[in-house]
Parts: sequence; C-alpha cells; structure tokens
Amino acid sequence: MKVLLVAEYRDGQLLGSTYELVAFAQKLGAESAMFLVGSDSALPQYDGTLYLANINKYSEFNPAVHKQLLLDIIAKDQPDMVVFSHSSYGWDLAPRISLALDAAQVSEVVDIVDGEPVAPVCNAKLRRQVKTKTSQNVVTLQAGAFCLSEEPVGTPTVVPIDTDTATEIEFNGYEEAETGGVDLSKAEVIVSAGRGIGKPENLEIIAGLASALKGEYGASRPVVDSEWADHTRQVGTTGQTVSPKLYVACGISGAIQHLAGMKKSEFVVAINTDKDAPISEVADVFVVADLKQFVPTLTEKVQAL
Ligand SMILES: Cc1cc2nc3c(=O)[nH]c(=O)nc-3n(C[C@H](O)[C@H](O)[C@H](O)COP(=O)(O)OP(=O)(O)OC[C@H]3O[C@@H](n4cnc5c(N)ncnc54)[C@H](O)[C@@H]3O)c2cc1C
Repeated sequence: MKVLLVAEYRDGQLLGSTYELVAFAQKLGAESAMFLVGSDSALPQYDGTLYLANINKYSEFNPAVHKQLLLDIIAKDQPDMVVFSHSSYGWDLAPRISLALDAAQVSEVVDIVDGEPVAPVCNAKLRRQVKTKTSQNVVTLQAGAFCLSEEPVGTPTVVPIDTDTATEIEFNGYEEAETGGVDLSKAEVIVSAGRGIGKPENLEIIAGLASALKGEYGASRPVVDSEWADHTRQVGTTGQTVSPKLYVACGISGAIQHLAGMKKSEFVVAINTDKDAPISEVADVFVVADLKQFVPTLTEKVQAL
C-alpha cells in the first residue's frame, strides 16, 4: 500500500498535523511520500520523499494550482490513498482530488481497522468501517485521531515540483474571526462542563470552581448546542484549542473532537460517574464521582486555601 500525505503550512509555518498524517501511514503499515507547498526553511522531520512546491510562488491557498501540483504527483507515483488533514485546506482540496481521480472519499477518519478507514456517524455516537469500491481513495483525518508515539525524526529527500497551471486566485492572508466573549486560549486554568452537568443551572457549579481556581470555564459541544453556554466557551475541533496548565473536565466523556481541543493541557483532572469514560485515558487524575457532589466540595476546599 502506497499513500501520499498532504502536509500543510499556515502563516509560513509547518502545521503539527503533518505528523498525524505520518502516524496514520505508520498505523496503516503503508509506504509513504509527502506533498507540501512550503519552503526549505521549515521542512518536516520525515524520512521519505517530499514533493515540495515553492510557497512564495504558489501561496498557502490556491486550490486550482495545488490540485494540479498534486495530480501531477499522483499520476507519477500512483498512490493507493491520498491523505489530508480534516482542516479547511483538506476540506477544500480533498473533494477536488477525489472527483478528478474518480476515487472514493472518506472524511473525518478516526481509526484504521483491518486496513480500512473508520469514520464517525450519528454525531459521532457511532463509528463505521468503510470498505470502498475504488482502487484509489482519498481520506481526511480528524484532528488528534492519530499521534506518533515518539518525537518525529528524519530528513526528507526533497523533490522540487512545478506547474504552469494558470490561476485566477490571489491569496491575501488570513483574517481573524471576531471572537468576542472569552479567549480560552490564554487561560491558565479551565474548568469545563459537559453534558453530565444535566441542566443549565448546574453550570454555576462549574463556573464556581473556575472562579475559585482563578480560571475560566469552558464547555463541550452539547452544552453549547443546548445554549447553556456561549459558543466562545466551546473546547474542541469546532471550538477553541486550549493549552492551560490545568484542565478540569466535569461530566465530559472524552470524545475525540473534544480531546483534540484540550490535549495540549499540561495537567488534566476529569470527574465522571462512569469509570470507563474515555476521558480517563488522557486524565492525570481521574475522579469517579457525581460532579454535583464533588465539584462544590472541591470548590470549598480551594476557597479555604
Ligand atoms: C464534526 C463534529 C465536530 C464536533 N466538535 C466538537 C467540539 O468542538 N467540542 C466538543 O466537545 N464536541 C464536539 N463534537 C461532539 C463530540 O463528538 C461529542 O458528542 C461531545 O464532545 C460529547 O460531549 P460530552 O462529553 O459533554 O457529552 P457525553 O458524551 O454525553 O458525555 C457526558 C459524560 O458525563 C458523564 N456524567 C453524566 N452524569 C454525570 C454526573 N452527575 N457527574 C459526573 N459525570 C457525569 C457521563 O458518564 C458521560 O461520560 C463534535 C462532533 C462532530 C461530529
């Protein structure tokens, strides 16, 4: 099995998701090559062929041109699979490549089972193992689903690539979204509420502990979708990515989309009634308790310090 990994630059920097692509190829047991519109100054630590297009010439976003650069490599290398991150870059390019190749596309892949991609369904409550009917496939990987067990090492064999495809697009840079509300990315302590809080009134319990710890409160997506908390408080792939010193997850199961937003936290405490909740796998301290009893007691203890 041969895979082509499509790495990404953002604001002139190589994205860390590059190594999630490498971890995916390793888990698949596949031979890999990498494609990047980037520069010699920030290359991935990767032992393999890197097809490198000059970012100054082709810019970070230019779908028609990046597509042609990719299609030229695919025609030459004939990979069985083309692998993108499930990012805005991947969302844009993957379907273009899939259509051009007449290849099946599997989006938001979170695992590999029996050599086949696994993707979430029913709002990530279920997973399906996908058997495609095409010989070439295109996949996008959910952020945080694949991680290298060791620090990346290696120096790529760089193969410069070019195209004469005309473009009508000029990339002018990124515009920050207007966030308003709270900026959780700067908080040193975050106490987050999950669906386990049960009702909106219980958000006060979570906000109380956050305040006692001089931090901010966050929330999982169901809490935000229920309009119990503002969207700026959401942590996860469709919310904020946070890296506090302390992250306290209260009544949060630990779905991959939530973990992707908080996995860079230095120390994680999780409080859950279910001793088998997946959040226990990333928690430094896992408390099996009812948050409605445990959190107010903890808040009192912190306030008494
Ligand atoms: C495309 C996409 C994007 C997504 N983006 C995000 C995102 O950005 N952020 C995000 O969070 N989710 C996101 N999700 C949703 C995600 O898949 C999960 O559904 C969600 O994270 C679950 O939230 P939860 O852990 O609060 O709820 P649940 O999974 O329902 O877990 C509730 C937990 O509370 C525990 N519990 C119940 N009662 C108590 C109690 N009294 N005391 C203590 N524990 C209790 C339960 O044991 C359970 O583990 C996304 C999904 C999709 C498909």
